[in-house]
Amino acid sequence: MMKYVDVKEVFAEIPDEITLAISISGCPIHCPGCHSQYLWTDIGESLTEEALAEMLRSHVGITCLCLMGGDQDPAEIDRLACWVKNNSKVRTAWYSGRNELPPEINLSNFDYLKTGPYDAKCGPLNVRTTNQRLYRVEGGELTDITYRFWK
Ligand code: SF4
Repeated sequence: MMKYVDVKEVFAEIPDEITLAISISGCPIHCPGCHSQYLWTDIGESLTEEALAEMLRSHVGITCLCLMGGDQDPAEIDRLACWVKNNSKVRTAWYSGRNELPPEINLSNFDYLKTGPYDAKCGPLNVRTTNQRLYRVEGGELTDITYRFWK
């Protein structure tokens, strides 16, 4: 069972969306320079369907739900995103720390997918040198919209 540490409404993570970002613990990526090393251990509350339902109930007005992390169990990420799609009208996003999308991910369960570990040499998503990518998913196609973070 995956666990999450915190939940907050954010505006910068997905362009044009009011996003509920759920920080998932147990991150296996261990990027050098990670600013969230507290997420490396298996801490927090269980990320169940009931927990997601309560988040959706208590954050009226969000337009997107973003699972941040969870690379240790992509099948579970896919299952939870599918549940959100079937039980709400919000769009779904996943922030992965890997460069390649794992085969367990069904594009039909997501509206946005972010790939790539944090690399201090390249910088985060909002600089042009970043190695990370944010994709919009539409009709089974990925469109790179990383440029939307750049001023
Ligand atoms: S994927 Fe995110 S949480 Fe995991 S090590 Fe990299 S920056 Fe830290």
